[in-house]
Amino acid sequence: MGKRHPAYLSDNRIYSCSTCHSHLLSHHSVISRAFQGRHGAAYLVSHIINVTLGTKEERMLLTGMHTVADISCSICGTRIGWKYLHAFEKSQKYKESKYIVEKAKMAKENILWDYHLY
Ligand SMILES: [Zn+2]
Repeated sequence: MGKRHPAYLSDNRIYSCSTCHSHLLSHHSVISRAFQGRHGAAYLVSHIINVTLGTKEERMLLTGMHTVADISCSICGTRIGWKYLHAFEKSQKYKESKYIVEKAKMAKENILWDYHLY
């Protein structure tokens, strides 16, 4: 297997892996900025790229029991958060198949495409 190459997003506000700067998500994918990760503030996001899913496990979180799998940057291997696979509480169902990304593991990329056009 060859070296993995990162995929790219085309948006002007992108969050990337703070370690290797591979693109992770567009700001349009952020559902909430008011979540807690393992290391403090975290975002709930709907779409993410360049990540590898870890082992599925049941985890007791503040909001109840969930089936989750850790997600790591597929380029550098840094663990950046987790994916919600299943929520046992009805009120938490909206999180299923969405991702938690630790704020501390993201870097903001401001790609000012407009400046190249004019
Ligand atoms: Zn990375």
